[in-house]
Amino acid sequence: MNNCMMNLTISPSAIAIIGGGLSGSLVAANIMRKATMPLFIKLIERNQEVGRGVAYGTPVECHLLNVPAGKMSAFPDEPNHFLNWLYRNGHEEVKASTFVPRKVYGDYVQATLTEAEANAPAYVMLERIVDEAIAIENKSDNVIVKLSSGESLYVQKAVLALGNFPASLPKPVACVENHNDNIRDAWSSQAIADLNPEDSILLIGSGLTMVDAVVALHAKGFQGKIHAVSRHGLKPCSHKSTIPYPTFIDLETAPKTARELLHLVRQQVRTADDHGLDWRAVIDALRPVTQEIWQILPLKEQKRFLRHIKAYWEVHRHLIAPEIADVLDAAEESGQLSYYAGRIQTCQQFDNKLTVTIRERETQAKIVLEVNRIINCTGSNCNYRSLQHPLLASLQEQRLIRPNVLSIGIDTAVNGALLDADGKASELLYTLGTPRKGNLWETTAVPEIRVQAANLAQDLLKSLSPIPYAVIENWFAPKPAMLFRQLFDKESSTYTYLIADPQTKEAILVDPVSEQFERDIQILRELGLTLRYCLETHIHADHITGTRQLKGLTGCLSIMPENAQTTCADSYIADGKMLHIGNVQIQAIATPGHTDTHMAYLVNNTHLLTGDALFIRGCGRTDFQSGDAGLLYDAVTQKLFTLPDDTLVYPGHDYQGQTVSTIGEEKRWNPRFAGHSRSQFMVLMDNLNLPYPKKMSEAVPANQHGGKV
Ligand SMILES: Cc1cc2nc3c(=O)[nH]c(=O)nc-3n(C[C@H](O)[C@H](O)[C@H](O)COP(=O)(O)OP(=O)(O)OC[C@H]3O[C@@H](n4cnc5c(N)ncnc54)[C@H](O)[C@@H]3O)c2cc1C
Repeated sequence: MNNCMMNLTISPSAIAIIGGGLSGSLVAANIMRKATMPLFIKLIERNQEVGRGVAYGTPVECHLLNVPAGKMSAFPDEPNHFLNWLYRNGHEEVKASTFVPRKVYGDYVQATLTEAEANAPAYVMLERIVDEAIAIENKSDNVIVKLSSGESLYVQKAVLALGNFPASLPKPVACVENHNDNIRDAWSSQAIADLNPEDSILLIGSGLTMVDAVVALHAKGFQGKIHAVSRHGLKPCSHKSTIPYPTFIDLETAPKTARELLHLVRQQVRTADDHGLDWRAVIDALRPVTQEIWQILPLKEQKRFLRHIKAYWEVHRHLIAPEIADVLDAAEESGQLSYYAGRIQTCQQFDNKLTVTIRERETQAKIVLEVNRIINCTGSNCNYRSLQHPLLASLQEQRLIRPNVLSIGIDTAVNGALLDADGKASELLYTLGTPRKGNLWETTAVPEIRVQAANLAQDLLKSLSPIPYAVIENWFAPKPAMLFRQLFDKESSTYTYLIADPQTKEAILVDPVSEQFERDIQILRELGLTLRYCLETHIHADHITGTRQLKGLTGCLSIMPENAQTTCADSYIADGKMLHIGNVQIQAIATPGHTDTHMAYLVNNTHLLTGDALFIRGCGRTDFQSGDAGLLYDAVTQKLFTLPDDTLVYPGHDYQGQTVSTIGEEKRWNPRFAGHSRSQFMVLMDNLNLPYPKKMSEAVPANQHGGKV
């Protein structure tokens, strides 16, 4: 982190977001999209990867979303945002009704965050912190977030985007768990590792986590027996396309008991059936008002719902993709998968096996299963009274949270502000998603979280006060160390620059060359870097950019100067705009002349990438691609030469074996500029009589299409 920031007792207008899953990432992205004041966003995620969380961190390709792509936009006011991203990123085959792999959705969330960061105003900065928040101290008008590394963050607001905690095992199994390596959690990467083909498995739970386990076992070619036990033994239902059903509940007159509600829904299902409509349409019609219905139910009726209806609601409301349902049905029909309804009564360990006794729900009969592995598929636990985490303990001790009376989540105000133990809404601490389940009931899926994230971002921004200019200046003080590499392509004498933040390992390549694609990939791999962007100084005429290949392999975003004659960049950067790679900042400086949209880039205020505007003791030609010698003279003398003399000059090409110079040196020794007036420079440039670059007719059109030959 910037030293000046560390010396401040408080970082004004700083927001900490604890948890970098979907919820945390969307709050950060919305803030960056809407902020109009200087702001520091500190996104704290204990895992290396932001944007995935449990749901979208799965490496299993056939773990599909359980909501079709057309309904999974990250932004409520841009319903096609996800679909458009898919089309731009090689998934042209996807339709609005397709169930896309969750892994791809994780890529989308990550790209959405990166794009928001790239397009944010220069004074809005995102810092990704790989650490675990272990405590919060609430001061009168700020918050201290303590991290397990020992660092403390001083912020004005904190958002708890903690998401899903793994559920605990039923007691009889939990007793054996500590000394048995064959009892595993479904969300652990080791859940289905080291199985023999003839092993048998007991999955505890029959909801969506169980579905994930069966699908992963199927993908692995597992042939052994799979048992799935849950209290009701209900199987998840699958999606089916339906004709919309009209809204049938008026909140004013809606039933106020769980039983009457159930009765009403059943009645509507029968009516729908009479009209040839599927029950799913009736459940869908409830979706827009589910949170409101939940909130008008008296507490005793909410309890009744949880006791008697919840299990049925879950299977009818949280549907699975038809192709996933096919896998489950086939496994059941073949006898590989069996479902049981009942409670686990005992679990004993004999040699390498586990013997489990189940008391069957209806008959009370005893079922005894002998298995090699038990996998906890009970899903997520949101009982904040029983959750063991230092952060939650810290919040409880200070009475900053109030666990919900139904033991699901914590109490919040309408805007997601935490209610303290006395029911008072915090002005500093907020949450969204799963922790709000007790208050809202339906709050865990993307369609609900995206609305909460957008509203919360807006509220946070409204509530922050402007900060004095002196403090803003500190933010733009020199940045910390960076990784900076100058790479060379001999054939075109082109320099490519690799720049990275050594802490976050995020990287950018400036002016990559197609022929050097393998070199660039190798160095990224060897240095353990994640390529976020490929950035161009201009549309090149002497080589083909490597951006297209790099993008295909790494998923990085391509960035071109604003108004460049290309339509295929992911983003465009304008004069004066700032790009952030972790803590490294790159400022675009419009330097037209070699081409009409050329940009130079000033990295961390010290390294100037001059592209073809300024070479060491020379400059780029101005006789094609809308070049203009006068404009180049102005850009170099009035912009680049006004930077401090010790600014390092890294050109886009060199033909004499030079690598680096300084602004001071070039002002004094560059034969094109030193001692020359604008008109003298123009005459000089008009008389260069250089041959056209060899690859020009191939390179320019290819580069206008991002490197597509
Ligand atoms: C397996 C699964 C599949 C799902 N599939 C879908 C689907 O297809 N469609 C849909 O709409 N919804 C789906 N959901 C619902 C899902 O809950 C949400 O879509 C979303 O993933 C929730 O995001 P989140 O950020 O709130 O929580 P999480 O994804 O749980 O993320 C919370 C993050 O916070 C981090 N964290 C927690 N505590 C700390 C701390 N103290 N310090 C630092 N970091 C911390 C965690 O490491 C984690 O990365 C699914 C859920 C699961 C569990």
